[in-house]
Amino acid sequence: MDFRLTPEQQQFQDSVLKFAKANLASAALARAHAAGYPWDVAKLMAKQGLLGITIPEADGGQGGSLMDAVIAIESVASVCPRSADVIQAGNFGPIRVLAEYGSTSQKKKFLTRLLSGEAVISVGMTEPDAGSAVTDLKTSATADGDGYRVNGSKIFTTHSAYADVILTYVRFGPGVGGIGSVLIGTKDPGVRRGKPSTFMSGEEWAELHFDNVHVPADMVLLREGGFKKQIGGFNVERIGNASRSLALGRYAFERARAWALERRQFGKLLAEFQGLQWKFADMKMQLDAAQLLLYRAAANADRGFPSPDETAIAKAYCNRAGFDVANEALQVMGGLGYSQEELVEYCVRRCRGWMIAGGSIEILKNRIAEGIFGRSFSQRGDKG
Ligand SMILES: Cc1cc2nc3c(=O)[nH]c(=O)nc-3n(C[C@H](O)[C@H](O)[C@H](O)COP(=O)(O)OP(=O)(O)OC[C@H]3O[C@@H](n4cnc5c(N)ncnc54)[C@H](O)[C@@H]3O)c2cc1C
Repeated sequence: MDFRLTPEQQQFQDSVLKFAKANLASAALARAHAAGYPWDVAKLMAKQGLLGITIPEADGGQGGSLMDAVIAIESVASVCPRSADVIQAGNFGPIRVLAEYGSTSQKKKFLTRLLSGEAVISVGMTEPDAGSAVTDLKTSATADGDGYRVNGSKIFTTHSAYADVILTYVRFGPGVGGIGSVLIGTKDPGVRRGKPSTFMSGEEWAELHFDNVHVPADMVLLREGGFKKQIGGFNVERIGNASRSLALGRYAFERARAWALERRQFGKLLAEFQGLQWKFADMKMQLDAAQLLLYRAAANADRGFPSPDETAIAKAYCNRAGFDVANEALQVMGGLGYSQEELVEYCVRRCRGWMIAGGSIEILKNRIAEGIFGRSFSQRGDKG
């Protein structure tokens, strides 16, 4: 066992850091507060080979491992937290599921633009009446001629305000076995965006309505029975969420550490007060523990999908650690930490969202408990 990065991974980390410092550092604060998607960053990253890191070369990707993608997201976030979302979108999210299960024609239609940073794909799972209980989703796909008619709506979809295509979870029939997914272009007839809204993080989203949208048969990604496969791919997205939580916690920690070595009160540096030293010690322990759990899940996945158990543990721990550390870092920086002149308050707001998104901490703990006891526990009413 070796807890260090390999020389190749170290070299890759150095090169991403160099790229991020040269291209992303100066506008990092402005980017965190800007509306919309950072398309300029996406195009730059595409040129740098940072989109599609884990996607096979035959599909236009880099053919790397999940650890490579984690290294990329961490390195970018350490310089520009907002730009880490572009690494997420281009490597960890529905793009990976599309690359894994998509047909040649689906990949041809969407992947090229996604990998060149000109378009972004969203995953639409959550509905007004199906959040944590995602298998209660109602959006239906009914056979019609050479394809399907899709009716329903999705909420809280990341990138929904500007995505080109939605990997949409739909119901072909009853029960969990009836769930599959289709690819719907946001400009397709019958697709409507509802009232724009924003999360606490500043990210925009809009309810997506599908009113009798025609989906040709060749735009079905996974037919009924595909739910398990989709969630397998979704574990990659969870690793990306975990990585960003940890990376933004670390960003805030590093900023607070630098501040504690600069700011004087009562004639002493903040770093010289034991009450603050212990905060830093606690933060460091949380960050290091989270890092090991994240790397375990990512390294064991190699070029495949990560294990559901290791992913649940890594995401739940990184979500908690990222938020707690960013919040403590804010405290250490006092009024400056709470101000939008610094990115620390942004890190707190972003980390808060990942405790809910992509499988809330509570739902992940349910999953962890199933692994501990070797059985499933129905969360539904009378079944116990
Ligand atoms: C920043 C952000 C980005 C998101 N991006 C997307 C996206 O791109 N695509 C998408 O489809 N969705 C997205 N979501 C939605 C997200 O997946 C849901 O918010 C999440 O699944 C929780 O569903 P809910 O909000 O309906 O809460 P509910 O399911 O109503 O849950 C409310 C609370 O109860 C807890 N809870 C529920 N059931 C249980 C249980 N059985 N045991 C213990 N606790 C329980 C939950 O953990 C939560 O704390 C995003 C959400 C956020 C905040």
